[in-house]
Amino acid sequence: MYAYAVPDLHEPTVDTEELRPTRLEVDLDAIADNYRVIASRVAPARVIPVLKANAYGHGLVEVARTLEPLGPAWLAVAYLEEALRLRKAGVRAPILVLGGLVGAQIPRFLEHDISITASSVDKLRAVEEAAAATGRRARVHLKIDTGMERIGVHWYSAGPLLEASLQCRHVEVEGIFTHLARADEDDLAPSRQQLERFAEVLQFYEQRSLPPPVRHVASSGVIERWPECRLDAVRPGVLLYGCGARADTRPIWPVRPALRWVTRVVFFKVVRPGSPVSYGGTWAPRRMTRIITLPVGYGDGYMRAMSNRAQVLVRGERRPVVGRICMDQVMVDIDWGTAYNGDEVVLLGSDGSREIRAEELAAWADTIPHEVLAAINTRVPRVHRGGVRSVPDDAAHHGPSRR
Ligand SMILES: *Cc1c(COP(=O)(O)O)cnc(C)c1O
Repeated sequence: MYAYAVPDLHEPTVDTEELRPTRLEVDLDAIADNYRVIASRVAPARVIPVLKANAYGHGLVEVARTLEPLGPAWLAVAYLEEALRLRKAGVRAPILVLGGLVGAQIPRFLEHDISITASSVDKLRAVEEAAAATGRRARVHLKIDTGMERIGVHWYSAGPLLEASLQCRHVEVEGIFTHLARADEDDLAPSRQQLERFAEVLQFYEQRSLPPPVRHVASSGVIERWPECRLDAVRPGVLLYGCGARADTRPIWPVRPALRWVTRVVFFKVVRPGSPVSYGGTWAPRRMTRIITLPVGYGDGYMRAMSNRAQVLVRGERRPVVGRICMDQVMVDIDWGTAYNGDEVVLLGSDGSREIRAEELAAWADTIPHEVLAAINTRVPRVHRGGVRSVPDDAAHHGPSRR
């Protein structure tokens, strides 16, 4: 028998700066400002900030507490356990779990007043039955698949789900949504096609002269540049954290990154020409050079794919990561520059006028900024600045009005 407990995800690590010099500084004010920029530009559409994967590495609970007073329509997460973690931390804002539903989870959703993504008639029926049995009202968003082939009913067979949702007496249908498979591409044609399919589904409500529930489609790739897709609400993830949706794009709106990932020099050596550095001997200096070692690696989320490509800021200068990135250490060539044990080195974020962006790390790792942020392991201690300093009490709580 295995003892199963809902994991207490992302329990913050104690900040032991002298003990472990690597840390992630999170500027919660930047996230709040980014939220305001997005909210004001998409209005009257509302905002459903996406906080999955530890709020893209920024700290689930801290980000939720920062955004809760700003009145998000829902805080979106991927998994039930993320939502439970927020409730346990005292977050009372509406929460939507975007991911697929497993039947056994339903009572937990109801108990903690968490909105469910219903992606089939069977699942909706199971929700209705559980709600009827417990006398609680379930909150549901209907998920339509318009071309992602992930979860959701196909747009061409969504009728029965919408029909069934009207029959449910214990379910409040708060929203209906779909997700774009190619939101980050320059060409909007595939996204337009998905939006048209979604519009076909929504005719169900027009034909019955019923107001539709909150309709939401847009993720970061389209929010800034395609007003028609904003509908009633938008779901920004990476944009909320100040980053572009692709390695080669930058946000158009004045949002800013909130992270500074720093470490300190733990070793300094002079390496002779031709002596290979790190596993596999993938790099060797052509001339005598100075190599520093940093106590961070792919075990912290500093991705191995960036080996021999990444750069870091040492005393405000860009310096190359050389040789393979190890699980807990990386080596940097500082040429004949100066660095001492204990000097701060910036892996991500700014140092004076220089800056390394998540989009750059994504390019070095051949991935998207989302993965760079989500990969920063919980082994790295987070240090939060700004935002709200305590859990808001009732008087300070400005929860959004619910439909
Ligand atoms: C992750 C996710 C988002 C946010 O995506 P970004 O590209 O980070 O904006 C929005 N909607 C759904 C359904 C998601 O899974």
